[in-house]
Amino acid sequence: MFSSKDGSTVLPARLGDVLAAALDGTGPSRDDCVYLLSFAETSPEAGVIRGVADAVSRRRFNNEAILLGQIGIETFACPANCRFCVFGKGHTRFPETRLTTEEIVGRARGFASGGDLYALFLMTMHEFELDRLLRVVEEVRPAIPASTQIVVNIGDFDRRQAAELRQAGVDGAYHVCRLRERVDTDLDPENRKKTFRAIRDAGMDFYYCCEPVGPEHSAQELVDQLWLGIEFGCFQHAAMRRVYLPDAPLAHHGQITELRLAQIVAVVALASLACPATDNIAVHEPNLIGLTSGANVVYAETGANPRDTAADTARHRGLDMAGARRMLYEAGFTAVRRGDGSRTPLTHTSIQG
Ligand code: SF4
Repeated sequence: MFSSKDGSTVLPARLGDVLAAALDGTGPSRDDCVYLLSFAETSPEAGVIRGVADAVSRRRFNNEAILLGQIGIETFACPANCRFCVFGKGHTRFPETRLTTEEIVGRARGFASGGDLYALFLMTMHEFELDRLLRVVEEVRPAIPASTQIVVNIGDFDRRQAAELRQAGVDGAYHVCRLRERVDTDLDPENRKKTFRAIRDAGMDFYYCCEPVGPEHSAQELVDQLWLGIEFGCFQHAAMRRVYLPDAPLAHHGQITELRLAQIVAVVALASLACPATDNIAVHEPNLIGLTSGANVVYAETGANPRDTAADTARHRGLDMAGARRMLYEAGFTAVRRGDGSRTPLTHTSIQG
């Protein structure tokens, strides 16, 4: 590609080939993704990878962004025992909490009141009561605009349960076979994949993510895990870093930077060119580097959050809707897409308030 006059900075020919192909619409192979992740996050190569992913995503998604809102509706010591999560049963100090249906409806209305919320996410622990969840969906659905979808972020479920959720008005499900699933969690990766199939078979959108990324994960591990989203036809792909929680069993590994997370977002965005079903790319937690490296989605959050020790993340780590909207504007997006496909412009006046 090019080099500095003293020859100290040279972008390799392979990198040029991979990125040129991406600009022409052909995503990198699995091996190429490992290669793209092998560069240091501060290197010129990583900067170019992020820049190309940004250009590719803006063109693919028409420079439109998506706003999502998540409500953690209850917390208890979670049997999945994820070693990175504040709710894992082996180490949690988190109190049991349960929002009432009225509280959930009130928060849902708050998220949707701006008229530009693509989807409202309802999050539970790994175990959940399907009947209660269906009742919540039944109450929330008429309380929010038809242009806002409902998505669940819950434990594993089968085809029958997926069909009931779909029937109740649930449009999608966030589900992940996490990095080092069964090693850093008590869950079976095969059950995670069965749930992917149940989601797809029920006709729901499948939201996936490369998560929870820590400094100990190799490039190959990241690629093996993120590729599952592509194989299973994810509607949303994403990347999320593991947040450092001092009391969590994996705390000693530390935390990656937002810059490294953005490089992973970029590789996710480029790899997703191989997946026609992928409609948008998210970065968790929301940040501007990720939103200028291929991501076009942010989540606002309230209630419980696995990455937060506060009972209501909206007052702590979570971003509110106004903050999320402002971040999308600052990242250069010009419109927000709603759940019914309609759009609203994102301007300096629409982010006030
Ligand atoms: S990440 Fe989810 S499944 Fe794992 S312990 Fe936390 S709440 Fe449970």
